[in-house]
Amino acid sequence: MHFALIFAVAALLGFRLRWALIAGLAGATPDLDFLFSFHPSITHSLLPPLLLAGLSVIVLRKTEIGSRLLLVALSFGSHALLDFSHGNYVPILWPLSDKAYGLSFGLNLHMSAPSITWTFQIVEKAYDYGVPMASDGMVLGSNGFTIAVLIVAAVLIARLNIERRCA
Ligand SMILES: [Zn+2]
Repeated sequence: MHFALIFAVAALLGFRLRWALIAGLAGATPDLDFLFSFHPSITHSLLPPLLLAGLSVIVLRKTEIGSRLLLVALSFGSHALLDFSHGNYVPILWPLSDKAYGLSFGLNLHMSAPSITWTFQIVEKAYDYGVPMASDGMVLGSNGFTIAVLIVAAVLIARLNIERRCA
């Protein structure tokens, strides 16, 4: 899912499909921690992608490599933010903080007494990165897979139509 969302955003922003593909892969990379039975691990910290983004903006801003590095850094960092926004406990501030954070957000529609309420809370707990987690969990279910395929297909069709019109 991370791959499909980031690929779609990069492709719709006008990056070449090769770079949209690289961005999508960068966005999925933090989950390679599954290979080591830790998830979400320190690969979900926002510090490395923020440092890379800062480097690309400050030092390399007028170079082609700078914009590509920025794309990869933002794609990598977006992974942790997406996990965080799903309410998972993510060590987004590691090593500055030894806690894992999650976003608890809900929008509720009440039909009996017509109203809308919402909750927004950042939750935290001690980050237990020293304890291995089960490595046999499902990475992508059938719903996620179907949505990811539909997103990638829709973006590819849209891009091909745009390129055909411009040719
Ligand atoms: Zn993740």
